[in-house]
Amino acid sequence: MNRTNPVTERVLIAGAGPVGLVAAANLVRHGVPVTVFESGGDLSMESRASTFHPPTLDMLGELGVVQPLIAQGLIAPKFQYRNRRDGVIAEFDFGDIADQTRHPFRLQCEQSKLTRIIYDRLRGAPDLEIVFSSPVRAVTQNTDSVTVTVERDGRSEAHSYRWLIGADGARSDVRRSLDIEFEGFTWPDRYLVVSTPFDFHSVIPGLATVSYVADPVRWHFLLGIPGLWRVMFRIAPEESDELALSAEFVTALMAEVVPGIDRYQIDHTTLYRVHQRVASTFRKHRAFLIGDAAHVNNPLGGMGMNGGIHDAMNLTERLAAVWRGEKAEAELDRFDLQRRLVTKEYVERQSIQNKRNLEAADNGFRDFLRQTAADPTLRREYLLKVSMIGSLRRAEQLG
Ligand SMILES: Cc1cc2nc3c(=O)[nH]c(=O)nc-3n(C[C@H](O)[C@H](O)[C@H](O)COP(=O)(O)OP(=O)(O)OC[C@H]3O[C@@H](n4cnc5c(N)ncnc54)[C@H](O)[C@@H]3O)c2cc1C
Repeated sequence: MNRTNPVTERVLIAGAGPVGLVAAANLVRHGVPVTVFESGGDLSMESRASTFHPPTLDMLGELGVVQPLIAQGLIAPKFQYRNRRDGVIAEFDFGDIADQTRHPFRLQCEQSKLTRIIYDRLRGAPDLEIVFSSPVRAVTQNTDSVTVTVERDGRSEAHSYRWLIGADGARSDVRRSLDIEFEGFTWPDRYLVVSTPFDFHSVIPGLATVSYVADPVRWHFLLGIPGLWRVMFRIAPEESDELALSAEFVTALMAEVVPGIDRYQIDHTTLYRVHQRVASTFRKHRAFLIGDAAHVNNPLGGMGMNGGIHDAMNLTERLAAVWRGEKAEAELDRFDLQRRLVTKEYVERQSIQNKRNLEAADNGFRDFLRQTAADPTLRREYLLKVSMIGSLRRAEQLG
């Protein structure tokens, strides 16, 4: 045991993003004391994930935070695929899997709303401590504890805990310090998100709040959130960042969305580099990786944060049982087995396939969608897959 650092009988979480805070909320619900170190001075307000899938909403229901989230979001019972020539190719309705979830819809709501709701709900809970402006920089371990080096007020401090959960995002210091590979690749193209208060419902008849528009050269998709639409475009490798963010370029892209409309009020534009990477393990002794610290994928299908929340619930259910002495520590290996495998088999594969489908030059994807939408059995299977219920079932099968 490290004599200079008495072990604090708490679980330490690095990162107060949506995934770290869901993990904290579930541990506290099970009576496990938690400390969260967050590098930022406050919760992040960055505009990123905006889609919550049905099983994620079911999990947030267990934490008692789904109703305030629904109150701040848009319920999207249907989603569409379109192309420029045919208009709607296929429409899917989550009502077809209403027997599989308490929330048969996608919720369109920014991830920053979730973190604020959880924070406000947990603040003051005796088992929870959230410390801002405190990045975790290094991790060491022995058989009983894990020691982190934290920067606070310009000084480095060492603290020891029983367990560590790294939920510190894609550039995870925890992952780096544990020397875990982040295997995969970075796409040569980037994505541009343009936010506008323009009311697309008023000019595109029958438009669903979640609509993907396939195109071999320039696909885009439209996602409604309260008061705004987010339109996401692919930016080709040969188009520079400066060009992609220029007002003329953004105006020209937006002019392709609805023929005849070429002026929009633009509230934000953000350009993203997109990666497909999975950590070589999600567990190293007493330390775990969840969320973007463990895996990143392109945002087509909205699976990054959702998969991270599924990691958080899977891990913390097991960790709480181990903490209470109900299960042996070997139980925690199941988290790595289940979540890493479904991330590779399902989230990575599906998000890559979603991208290829949207930019396919032939009619294969269009024909697949039409056939799937027309057949009740295929339609249901497809909905179970895109809602991520399929990935959770696969994880359960792994035992
Ligand atoms: C444009 C875009 C759209 C997206 N849309 C969707 C979508 O619709 N659905 C979806 O599921 N996903 C989507 N994603 C992905 C989603 O945003 C991420 O998967 C999600 O933010 C991951 O949450 P997280 O808590 O793991 O990491 P983060 O949100 O990155 O949070 C990590 C937290 O850790 C903190 N931190 C960092 N380093 C340290 C440190 N050393 N010590 C302590 N704290 C630290 C950070 O300040 C941050 O608060 C989208 C992403 C982008 C870019």
